[in-house]
Amino acid sequence: MALPRLGIIGIGRMGAPMSRRLMEAGYSLTVTDRNADAVAKLVAAGAASAPTPAAVTEAADVVLLSLPTPDIVDAVAFGADGIGTVAGAGKTVVDLSTTGPEGAKALAAGLSAEGFTVVDCPVSGGVGGAEKGTLALMASGDAAAYEALMPMFEVLGKPFLVGPDPGMGQMTKVMNNLLSVAALAVTSEALVLGQKAGLDPKVLVDVINVSSGQSNASMTKIPKFVLTRSFDFGFAIGLSNKDIRLCLESANALGVPMVVGSSVLELLKIANAKLGGDADLTQIIQPIEEWAGVTVGGED
Ligand code: NAD
Repeated sequence: MALPRLGIIGIGRMGAPMSRRLMEAGYSLTVTDRNADAVAKLVAAGAASAPTPAAVTEAADVVLLSLPTPDIVDAVAFGADGIGTVAGAGKTVVDLSTTGPEGAKALAAGLSAEGFTVVDCPVSGGVGGAEKGTLALMASGDAAAYEALMPMFEVLGKPFLVGPDPGMGQMTKVMNNLLSVAALAVTSEALVLGQKAGLDPKVLVDVINVSSGQSNASMTKIPKFVLTRSFDFGFAIGLSNKDIRLCLESANALGVPMVVGSSVLELLKIANAKLGGDADLTQIIQPIEEWAGVTVGGED
């Protein structure tokens, strides 16, 4: 069977490497993005470009979104020249962005009314996972639509159908990110304490990584992006802030207390205010270093 024609709206840190993998797997691709440089790079790699989300949708059977925030997804779907201005019968929209459960429900309701099949499918695994095709894909929606998308999902990573309702994928994703950022935040605090106490942070990380304090933060983010002071993990603090806010909003709506989660969000807000939303998530350690008067892995 012929491969579906793909469209991708949003070819930033995540969308661009996913696009490249899909083209390497033989999919034809039409892209659009506000950033002309990002479009030019993918066109040079073999993609077609289209001026608007509507034009991408016209050219594609399956439209993928990899956009920063729920508001932007809403505008791309329902604004002038948006996806919803095109007849949706026979077309599927897959939202790979992190938009929270409420955003996913609104997207599915609005686009289903125009005849589209909608699959909520946020991803985890970062830019490295997008490049290597090792993302976790957290889909929710119609099982038959999910099955039909399976070959494409497998180019990107490991797909899971977490439930039948729009928003269940998003709920899974924002919970995962809360766990991930909580581990990074508390490991950052511990390393600042270790530095202040005169311990060598590299030795400390080696010990933690064979002890019960181990996490993805201690295994990967801290050694690769903090101890090297490169701070180029590739995920913006502003977007992480949005993810944890979405998680806490859902917890609030469902009446679930989030004592630790609230602290994580406060620390993110401080880092966001001090460093700007474009700073790398791994820079969350910097306000803690400043308060303590030490630099982890640096001279103090
Ligand atoms: P990014 O900011 O690098 O990329 C977003 C792209 O969308 C940019 O190229 C931007 O120009 C484009 N864009 C913005 N508004 C647009 C519009 N109206 N029309 C067309 N294009 C528009 O963000 P990212 O890091 O690639 O993240 C994308 C999504 O994936 C976010 O929802 C994020 O939370 C999620 N995510 C990111 C990571 C990561 O590690 N970077 C991991 C998992 C999930």
